Amino acid sequence: MIYFDHNATSPISKIHLDELYNILNQRNFGNPSSPHLFGRNASTIIEETRRALADYLNVDRGEIIFTSGATESNNLATKGVIENYYKEKPLHVISSQIEHPSILEPLEFAKDSGYITHSKIKVDTTGCLRIEDIIKEIRKNTKIITIIAASNETGALQDSKLFGDWLHYRKSKKDVRKKFITDSQQFQIFDSLLLDEVSDEDILNIHYHVDAVQVFGKLEPKLWLSQGMSSFSISGHKIGALSGIGVFFLKKGYKFSPCHLGGGQEKKKRSGTENLAGIISLGISLRELNKDNYFVKRKKITLLVDSMFEEIKKLDKYIVINTPKNKRLYNTLNFSFKEDSKIYGEDFLLNLDMNSIYASSGSACSSSANLPSHVIMAQHNSKYLARNAIRVSLGMDNTSDEVHAFLRNLSSFI
Ligand code: PMP
Repeated sequence: MIYFDHNATSPISKIHLDELYNILNQRNFGNPSSPHLFGRNASTIIEETRRALADYLNVDRGEIIFTSGATESNNLATKGVIENYYKEKPLHVISSQIEHPSILEPLEFAKDSGYITHSKIKVDTTGCLRIEDIIKEIRKNTKIITIIAASNETGALQDSKLFGDWLHYRKSKKDVRKKFITDSQQFQIFDSLLLDEVSDEDILNIHYHVDAVQVFGKLEPKLWLSQGMSSFSISGHKIGALSGIGVFFLKKGYKFSPCHLGGGQEKKKRSGTENLAGIISLGISLRELNKDNYFVKRKKITLLVDSMFEEIKKLDKYIVINTPKNKRLYNTLNFSFKEDSKIYGEDFLLNLDMNSIYASSGSACSSSANLPSHVIMAQHNSKYLARNAIRVSLGMDNTSDEVHAFLRNLSSFI
């Protein structure tokens, strides 16, 4: 069996489950709100995991809210933040065209309900956004800007950190701004693109959210995190933890309206009994990320995907590669069959499946409905390419033999 769908979800190892069971089993399984020993132990574990995560991300642990996953976190960053501003409607929101549905759908809902106007920023044919295009779109009433750090479908990395750094610089007092020497030239170009109507105070009010699901655990935090981010979302099941656990990071000073009201857990920001097993599992996966051999393994996978690029490029009569070669997640390669090839992605996936190779067509969410991928559509404006895209996403334990088996299968299918 060859599993090449790690961007959708990752397998859980027996070691992980054993460790999870051991931790839960040791008088730690109580309701964290219960005052007795079992509850206190559970609450301690949650706080220890929060601290470990905060240390890993170099943020304050009070800024971490445990949620049921990134879908919920992204809803909090959109619906939750919009609701907080409801008296000032209509607000203006900026996102890319290639956000995950858990960003786009709440924004669509808010737009249809008359709460917001929504600008969607285009990507180029490599699947990347231009920061300049976002800055040009900022209005006086722009309250939310949301960017996906890396596309779950193509793996294209976005300049979400650079935008955050610029925003952080813009939000700083004028005399502090002068200290941003290294990037100042680029930042000054960005500044010059701002509309005259936009004041420093308008910029101060912007909530900048990043969907960091696909970079969390794949890139070191310092490569994607920026002080200019007001919030970001992460999800446990993309890094080897159980599904159903995620995090909404909310920077001190930023507000949202909680969607879950009730028992007041997570400092009243997310009511509901905490997902203790999920939080423990996230903690276990986090310890894996901190191990030294993690980066060695990542290098190995980067080279494997590089070699796939080279091989698939040779089939350019039939195939378009949708992932940028260099500005990409190390584990992801997405390509589409060209219309002339008369090959359907769905048929190829079925063939792979029959040979026990598991990849996907675009994102897991849209593939079940067999809709054309909105991400590939944004990139190429071609329904055929968007309908016939294949996503291969490797995990740490995939091997070169498995890559060869996939490539053999592809060549014989064509
Ligand atoms: N954002 C991105 C970029 C994702 O890849 C996913 C998962 N497909 C989500 C959000 C939603 O995460 P979850 O499954 O934890 O709800």
